[in-house]
Amino acid sequence: MDHISTGDLLRWNVAEGTPLGLDAKRYMDAGELVPDDIVVRMLVERLGTNPSGFILDGFPRTVPQAEALADALRGRSLDLDAVLAFDVDREVVVRRLSSRRTCPVCRRVYSMTTAPPLSDQACDDDGTRLVQRDDDREDVVRRRMEVYEEQTAPVRAFYEAIGLVRAVDADGTEDEVFGRTLRALGALAEPSAMPVAPETSGRV
Ligand code: AMP
Repeated sequence: MDHISTGDLLRWNVAEGTPLGLDAKRYMDAGELVPDDIVVRMLVERLGTNPSGFILDGFPRTVPQAEALADALRGRSLDLDAVLAFDVDREVVVRRLSSRRTCPVCRRVYSMTTAPPLSDQACDDDGTRLVQRDDDREDVVRRRMEVYEEQTAPVRAFYEAIGLVRAVDADGTEDEVFGRTLRALGALAEPSAMPVAPETSGRV
């Protein structure tokens, strides 16, 4: 199963200094969405012509992106199996994201509140100093939450109307939320494509 994260793809482009990355960075740093045409083009290219199973993480985040995804899948004779909606209180999201730190070398993710490194600020695996994503600063996280309400929440209604949404209570420990996610997906047989819809807290 392929894990496709548009946030990771964008951060890779920023780190590599590609033209797409240079375009996207100012939106990302401000907590705004990168324009649909850029993100859709990047995603469709990543999907390729004949994808097998995949999980989409952080995409689609707007209704036009959901429509573009439907077109792209139709053209490949694929259907979505499910859309996961992680329900969690806004303040819990702010706390989780603003306490997230990442190892820039091995990409391991820590939470300074619930899963801190053994020694202050250094990766347990390779000792590298941990970093905070620019858009995980609390003021930017709060803007991201507003953007979610304005632009991403309608995506849930889009998928509810076609019966794809599986809601997961995402308030709890990582193990609890993971268990609930597996149960929510339990009824799926042989998934061919499985998007994870609007992000809230799923990976933190
Ligand atoms: P994420 O890692 O999914 O939290 O995404 C980090 C940032 O990348 C977001 O705050 C947006 O600026 C941008 N981004 C990621 N995915 C999308 C998307 N589907 N549409 C627009 N912007 C996106």
